[in-house]
Amino acid sequence: MVKSLNKNNLNEKKLFFIDTIAKFCDKCGNPYSENDLEIIQDNSISSIIHFHCAKCKSNHIATFFKPIGISNRMPINTDLDVEEIGKFAAMRETSAEEILQIYLYLKERERVLV
Ligand SMILES: [Zn+2]
Repeated sequence: MVKSLNKNNLNEKKLFFIDTIAKFCDKCGNPYSENDLEIIQDNSISSIIHFHCAKCKSNHIATFFKPIGISNRMPINTDLDVEEIGKFAAMRETSAEEILQIYLYLKERERVLV
């Protein structure tokens, strides 16, 4: 019954996120392709997407809040890998509060890097 994440649907989603959140790398301007995206979380409230630039190797995490159609994007250190974020984000069904916590967590990291 659940065939929603077959390759076509997944690519379609990735293209949607490229179109909605970021078409180009923040750092070097290289256009993203669906191969550069990793969907970490996707539910009815929000999506968390990892962008990896194939050219300059920079990484960004984007959160997309579906009910309001707003996205946030921030650079992350490469030592925070996708699995780590995934574990953190996918503990269970995400509430708005948890999204906020993830957001603050990532923002905190960003501050450390600067
Ligand atoms: Zn780049």
